[in-house]
Amino acid sequence: MADDCIFCKIVAGELPAEVVDEDDHTVSFMDINPWTRGHALVIPREHARNLFEIDDDNLAYVAAAAKRLALRARERLGCDGVNLLNSAEPAAWQTVFHFHVHVIPRYEDDPLRLPGAPQQVDQDELRAVAEELR
Ligand code: AMP
Ligand code: ZN
Repeated sequence: MADDCIFCKIVAGELPAEVVDEDDHTVSFMDINPWTRGHALVIPREHARNLFEIDDDNLAYVAAAAKRLALRARERLGCDGVNLLNSAEPAAWQTVFHFHVHVIPRYEDDPLRLPGAPQQVDQDELRAVAEELR
């Protein structure tokens, strides 16, 4: 458990949360400021700051729990789709520094909109960045 980590405190039962799913490695609970009806967070019990630090096993456990919750949201809440969202570091909007995946049920008429717009780039630029990533 990391000092002053609110999600570690939720895992330890020291902070309240509306827990909706638990297993040996993960806890899932309602986001206190939901973007849509049923918005939940899945976290590993073991503290990791974010995607850059979580180990592959815990990442897989969280992914499996997120899928479980997505299926349940469709069955119980009748959502039409689901977004999984993860943010790593403040540049990518992370505000709580214990790895978490948002499971956001989506409804045909909900107000969410894509936060960015696809940009036009030329082929040379695309090829150059691909080269850096290979
Ligand atoms: P992020 O901005 O991706 O780091 O997401 C952090 C999320 O945690 C936000 O959507 C918050 O609404 C949510 N959150 C913060 N504190 C709590 C809490 N005590 N219980 C449930 N959700 C929380
Ligand atoms: Zn933590």
